[in-house]
Amino acid sequence: MTYQEVIELAKRRAIFWPAFDIYGGLSGFYDYGPIGVLIKDNIINVWKNIFINMEGMAPIDSPNVTPEEVLDASGHTSVFTDYITYCENCGEAYRVDELIKAKDPTFELKSYEFMVKRMEELKLKCEKCGGKLSTPEKFNLMLGTRVGPGKGKQAYLRPETAQGIFINYLTYLRYFRDNLPFGIVQIGKGFRNEIAPRQSLIRLREFNMAEAEVFFDPDSIYWPGYFKEIMKDTVLLVPNNGDKRKISIEDALKTGIIKQQPLAYFIGLVQRFLLNIGIDGEKIRFRQHYPEELAHYSRDCWDCEVETTNGWIEVTGIADRNQYDLKQHSEHSGIMLVYKRKLSEPKVIKERKYVPIEEELKKYYGKEWKAVFEYLKNSKTDKENPVYKGIEIPNKCYRIEEIEKEINTEDVIPWVIEPSFGIDRIILSLLEHTLYTRKDSGYRVLKLKPHIAPYKIAIFPLMAKDGLDERARDIYDLIKGAGIPCYYDESGSIGRRYARADEIGVPYCITIDYETLENGTVTIRDRDTTLQERLKIVDLEKRVKESVNRCLTSI
Ligand code: AMP
Repeated sequence: MTYQEVIELAKRRAIFWPAFDIYGGLSGFYDYGPIGVLIKDNIINVWKNIFINMEGMAPIDSPNVTPEEVLDASGHTSVFTDYITYCENCGEAYRVDELIKAKDPTFELKSYEFMVKRMEELKLKCEKCGGKLSTPEKFNLMLGTRVGPGKGKQAYLRPETAQGIFINYLTYLRYFRDNLPFGIVQIGKGFRNEIAPRQSLIRLREFNMAEAEVFFDPDSIYWPGYFKEIMKDTVLLVPNNGDKRKISIEDALKTGIIKQQPLAYFIGLVQRFLLNIGIDGEKIRFRQHYPEELAHYSRDCWDCEVETTNGWIEVTGIADRNQYDLKQHSEHSGIMLVYKRKLSEPKVIKERKYVPIEEELKKYYGKEWKAVFEYLKNSKTDKENPVYKGIEIPNKCYRIEEIEKEINTEDVIPWVIEPSFGIDRIILSLLEHTLYTRKDSGYRVLKLKPHIAPYKIAIFPLMAKDGLDERARDIYDLIKGAGIPCYYDESGSIGRRYARADEIGVPYCITIDYETLENGTVTIRDRDTTLQERLKIVDLEKRVKESVNRCLTSI
């Protein structure tokens, strides 16, 4: 089905729609309705089952509002940008790579020069008035806010959930009994002041993310993983040298196409997750970033892209964030976000230590002196000049002393690999991949798997009379009581009721008829085959729960 058909269905059947509609809307913001929320929650439940239950990662729920210091440290205030161009005539703003892609879908942001060259070659003009476009410049994507009364304190709505994870790293290190590797996951909103929000859920300014940050000892970047056989899975890879191929994950790792085992493992896991929820396996690929495309924190990144009628869209990024974030937060906060690697035998070392000079620190840093004092005390002297909050600490503020000491552990900053999922894009792609038109009737069917379907059963009395409706309502209560999401519908013909259920992906419909009153059986109709059979009411729960659980666990 096409994107337009999905959008039409989404609005008509209360899946999602543009937010703030009665006030004219606000570009880049969407509401999810009753059906959409149920589908979204079911997808997230699969994600949680894989990452928390199976892979043993630990969840966190940190605030959306993030103080400026955190994002200064992470680099977002200075370099979390896209290229923007303005019309010199009417002032309209455009995101440059998107503007080029509209004319040349094969365009990749290989370098700034290449981007400007393509703009010229394609003779790009303002789409509204045909005016000349300005030279591209960087535009920061964060949405700011101020916290507290008066002038308040500068803060931002988090551009990713990851920073809430990094700054709590030490708490989780303790939680995992000081052992690496471990993973922390966060599901929540991300906010980006996108230059050109578009295509409903594809480019939002507020969107749903599910992120995992996995911490490793830099000497053993290896994730044991629950799904041992994942390495045999085949994936379609598009490395940045253009050598596109279908290959097993194991071979991609052996031949060096993918450099690190966790990147390879998580590529496999992303694919399994998407297949499990019902994304078409023929429409999944993993594309490696060009160096110019890499986010400021990342050394290597593979985007999982899904093919839709809008082209290939990125639904998940799997990035090597290396030691970047923990290093930055250690330097900026003065708290060393390290791991104590155990040595096989104790070692005597000569250590050069900073000895902070309290009076000078007080003079220079005022109220902040204590934090700098702690930072210096805990810092290594491997750098010539210690740096605090990005600024060199004047050398009158400390001495350097050499001491001998025996150590059993050494401090190491962990290495991070991050799979980061965009839930909204996944939902949109899934709807496109699963919506089709029945050949015989011309009705729409959303072929959602039972565990993703918003309701598992729709309950219909054949007619709303002769006690059929009463019996149907009793059965409705019974099924609800068994914890199965379901709904009751008595309006219109049975055919119309089937069609309404098909359109929102309900896998089973049951009809209560005169035979039900006699022998306690109902007809159960399968959405995909449209076949009907008679089933005892007592067997309903088992049948439906089995089919949901089968899908949930076949990863
Ligand atoms: P990133 O941190 O840029 O790799 O983003 C992680 C994931 O979030 C991407 O793979 C997308 O699926 C999703 N995403 C990023 N930006 C947006 C957006 N503006 N609207 C919807 N989803 C987004």
